[in-house]
Amino acid sequence: MQIAVPKEIKNHEYRVALTPAGVRELIAQGHEVIVESGAGEGSGYPDAEYQGVGARLESDVEQVFRDAELILKVKEPQPAEVARLTRGQTLFTYLHLAAARELTESLLESGVTAIAYETITDADGGLPLLAPMSRVAGRMAIQAGAHALEKAQGGMGVLLPGVPGVPPARVTVIGGGVVGENAARMALGLGAEVVILDTSLARLETLDHRYQGQIRTVYSTSEALEEAVRQSALIIGAVLVPGAAAPKLIRREHLRKMTPGAVLVDVAIDQGGCFETSQATTHAEPTYVVDGIVHYCVANMPGAVARTSTQALTSATLPYIVRLANGGYREVLSRDSHFAAGLNVHAGHLILPEVGEAFDMPV
Ligand code: NAD
Repeated sequence: MQIAVPKEIKNHEYRVALTPAGVRELIAQGHEVIVESGAGEGSGYPDAEYQGVGARLESDVEQVFRDAELILKVKEPQPAEVARLTRGQTLFTYLHLAAARELTESLLESGVTAIAYETITDADGGLPLLAPMSRVAGRMAIQAGAHALEKAQGGMGVLLPGVPGVPPARVTVIGGGVVGENAARMALGLGAEVVILDTSLARLETLDHRYQGQIRTVYSTSEALEEAVRQSALIIGAVLVPGAAAPKLIRREHLRKMTPGAVLVDVAIDQGGCFETSQATTHAEPTYVVDGIVHYCVANMPGAVARTSTQALTSATLPYIVRLANGGYREVLSRDSHFAAGLNVHAGHLILPEVGEAFDMPV
C-alpha cells in the first residue's frame, strides 16, 4: 500500500505522524512510504533519517497526497489539505469533528474515509490513541498554568507550592480521566493543594485509592464547581464525553467569583472547551484575559513538546497503522468493533452518531 506522511501545517504544530522507526516497520512489511520533505524536522527527525530507512522523500505536497491510499497525519486536516483528499483514500488522524462543523461538511464532500484516532476504543472502555497525547497535555497543563500565574503573564503572582510559611495554592482539575490524572500528578509533584472533580464515582474511587488521600476527590456538582472557582488559583478543564462537544461547566458569571489573576487552562478545547469563555488559542499567543481571569486554550498542546509527543503517538498508532496497511480498512474495521469506533466519515456519509447529534445531521 502507498502511505503518505505530509508535513503538519497547523500553527506551531511540530509533530509528525510517524517516526523513522515507524516508517521502517511499514517498509519491512512491504509498503511504500512517502514522506513530505521537512515533515519530521520539528520533532528532531531530519529527512536523511527517513531516507535512511527507505522512505521516498517528496517536496511537492500535491504529489505526497496524490497517489496515497492511506494518509497519516497528526492534527485535523486544514482547508488546503481537505482540498487534496479524494474518494477512495483513507485519512487516519485526530479529527475532533463534534467541535468542527465546517471540517465535517468538507470531509463529507471530499468522499474520503476518515478514521479518527480519538474515537477508537479498547476493551477496557479507554481511548488508546487519545491517551498518549492526553498524558502529554495533562502534564503540560500544569507547566502552562504555573507560568500563566506569574504576574508578568497576567496572573495573580502566585507560586503553586508556596514556600515555608506561605501555604500552597489550590489547583482544581475538572475531569479525572487521563488528562486530569496526569495534571493532578504534576501539580502534586510541585507541592500544590490538588482537588479533582468528576461525575464518575468509580473513577474518583480509583484516584483516591491510587493517591492515598494526597489528592482530594470530589463528586462534581454545581456546588463543588462554585467552591472550585472561589478557592482555586488554577483550574484545569479536562472533561470528555467521547465524540461529543464538551459540556460548559464554568460559565461567564463564575469568573466574577474567582480571584483576579486566577488561571483557567481548558485542555478540552479541542472538543469545544468546557468553560463558556474559552476560545481556541495557539502556541504563538496562548493566553487571553476575560474579566480578569487568564485563559489558556491551546488546542494542540502536545505540539510544543513535539519530540516526546511524536514518539508517544507513533508508539500508540503504529500497531493500528500496520493493521490498516496490511488488511485495508474494510477488512480490519469489520472484524474489530473497537477499531471501527474510529470511523467518523465514509464516502460522503457521516458515521459517528455524536457528530450527527452535535450538528443535527443524518448519520
Ligand atoms: P478521559 O475520557 O480519560 O477523561 C474524561 C473524564 O471526564 C472522565 O473521567 C469523565 O468521567 C469526566 N467527565 C465527563 N463529564 C464530566 C462532567 N460533566 N464533570 C466532571 N467530569 C466529567 O479523557 P481525556 O483523555 O482525559 O481527555 C480530556 C479532554 O482533553 C478531551 O476533550 C481531549 O480531547 C482533550 N485533549 C486535549 C488536548 C489539547 O492539546 N488541548 C490534548 C489531549 C487531549
